[in-house]
Parts: sequence; C-alpha cells; structure tokens
Amino acid sequence: MSELSELYQEVILDHNKNPRNFREIENADRWADGNNPLCGDQLRVFVDLEGDVVKDVSFVGSGCAISKASASMMTQVLKGKTRAEAEVLFDEFHKMVTGQLDPESEETHLGKLRIFAGVLEFPARVKCASLSWHTVNAALQGEDEVSTE
Ligand code: ZN
Repeated sequence: MSELSELYQEVILDHNKNPRNFREIENADRWADGNNPLCGDQLRVFVDLEGDVVKDVSFVGSGCAISKASASMMTQVLKGKTRAEAEVLFDEFHKMVTGQLDPESEETHLGKLRIFAGVLEFPARVKCASLSWHTVNAALQGEDEVSTE
C-alpha cells in the first residue's frame, strides 16, 4: 500500500467520525442538494459569499464515509477562497478522481485533497468523492439541485 493510500484511509476515518462544518447556515446566500443514487449519498451544501469570496461553507446530510469525508475536507479548503479559485479546485479535483490528472507528478492546487486520488482504485467511489464538489459548484452557479446520474 502506498503512503498516500494509508493516509487516505486515516483521513477518511477521521473526517467521517468528526465531519468539519457539518451544520446548516441560516439564510445562506446559496445552497444546493446533491444526490448520488448509486450509493445513497444525499448532501445539502450551504455557501455564504462576501463579494466574490466564500465566507462560509457547510454541509448536512447522510452518506457513506467517503462522501462525508470529501464534503468535510472540501468545506475546510474552500473557506476564504474566491469563486475563481473554487472553480479551479473543482476542476482539478474532478480530473484527479477521474484519472485525467496525476497529482503526484503534476502541479496542482489540491494540497491535502490529493489523498482522494486513492478513489481511483475504487471506481464505484468516484461519485461519492466528487458529489460535494458537484453540489457546491451547482450552488455557486445558482442551481439548487445536482445528481451524479
Ligand atoms: Zn457514497
């Protein structure tokens, strides 16, 4: 097992047990529902914007460990980012979990999110890992619902 996949398991367990920013934002500027029927993951993501900056971001819902851990880490990473930066991260994350970008050999902005490269070994989990990203992207685009199907 590579160092990255050991770290992957550790981080997933930690964030699943103690998800960060797991709460609603009252009167959020944006929110969207994400649904991954393949696994049964259902998330609602809230975003508060200040101008162009993600001032606060949170999520609620239920799902497997990977979907929750991914949403939890996403909220940590997105807080304080501009919408443009959030879009770059969404794009890089999506490319990484679908195998179009190798974070070990290519320069990215993903930082600790690189551990999710581990889902490549489990194709059924790709949608779990990317659900929260699709959902926050929908919220930022002004859509209120997204399904991975
Ligand atoms: Zn799942």
